[in-house]
Amino acid sequence: MVLSFYLVDALFMAGYAAHGSLPALAPVLYGAAGCGLTALFAVAMRMGLHRRMGGAHFTTVQLLTACILMLITAAMVPQIGMLLLLTMMVAVATAALQLPLRHVLAVSGLVAALSLALLMVNGHRFGMPLDDGWSRLLSGLWFAVVLGKIAAINLIGVAMRKALSASNARLALALTQVRELSERDELTGLKNRRSILALLTEERARFARGGRAFGLALLDIDHFKRVNDRFGHALGDEVLRVFAKIVAGNLRGTDHFARYGGEEFLLLLPNTPDAHAAVLAAERLRRAVDEHPWTDLAADLRVTCSIGVTVSHTGEGVAEMLERADASLYRAKSAGRNVVCTK
Ligand code: GH3
Ligand code: MG
Ligand code: MG
Repeated sequence: MVLSFYLVDALFMAGYAAHGSLPALAPVLYGAAGCGLTALFAVAMRMGLHRRMGGAHFTTVQLLTACILMLITAAMVPQIGMLLLLTMMVAVATAALQLPLRHVLAVSGLVAALSLALLMVNGHRFGMPLDDGWSRLLSGLWFAVVLGKIAAINLIGVAMRKALSASNARLALALTQVRELSERDELTGLKNRRSILALLTEERARFARGGRAFGLALLDIDHFKRVNDRFGHALGDEVLRVFAKIVAGNLRGTDHFARYGGEEFLLLLPNTPDAHAAVLAAERLRRAVDEHPWTDLAADLRVTCSIGVTVSHTGEGVAEMLERADASLYRAKSAGRNVVCTK
């Protein structure tokens, strides 16, 4: 795109030169310098200089060199000086779309100072060729091209806005996925410890504000180490997945079930008035696990779990409630496993 801009300018200069209103050397030198600069920056990009410098610095240098080339040309052939100043203005506006404000201010300040100096010294000779029909046609067309470039800036702006909103959408999706991943246990797909503890804290706060009592159940697979030792770690993993599915499939929609760690799971039962109701729910789960046809996974495989259950008490914190559920689980293990206990 930059190259085509230089070439179009050079072509207009060639038009004036053909008619004798500019020296023949002007379009040749301007075109050659434009091509040379474009090639130089293309090679620099190939070598990865724009990444090492930072894209903004690279574009700023590119813009500055373009402006300096136009200013030098305006100094040499002031009869097209006004058109070159307009062209330079459009170049700054185009690059400004991609540059941070301080770069735009720095380039604009420098270009303004140089232009002012040039105008002070040579401004009385600045203009655009309008002496005859051919010159007026060329000047009018060049001005139209400048206007066309301004329209193109708008197109670039629209494309950038589109790209920005697409990348924002991708970012929002990635954020949702990261949040989802950070709340899930990878093996079972259940909520993880962090996530259930947050829910438990919320539920306790609701209860403290006068909400309904809730239950808590700690489930631990019995002799799981033996499952691993006898059938291998991979089958142990599969048992954890199936166990999670069985329990999750036997819950109310409002219950929250999570992998608390290893072969321990935590169940939050909102709206559970007393220990009896919590024990009934836990008993249903214990039975579902016990009655599952585990031999489908491996001959002789049997999986049971022990469950410690408790309900919320007024004035206590999450830690005390968890301790009580843990103590209940300990009792269930001591009672011979595959039972539900409450304290
Ligand atoms: P208890 O009935 O007293 O609970 O005995 P247990 O063997 O279930 O308990 P213990 O704490 O001695 O062993 C738990 C085992 O769970 C040990 C550990 O290797 C296994 N385990 C923990 N996390 C995983 C896992 O992600 N995959 C597999 N396959 N095993 C796990
Ligand atoms: Mg266990
Ligand atoms: Mg355990």
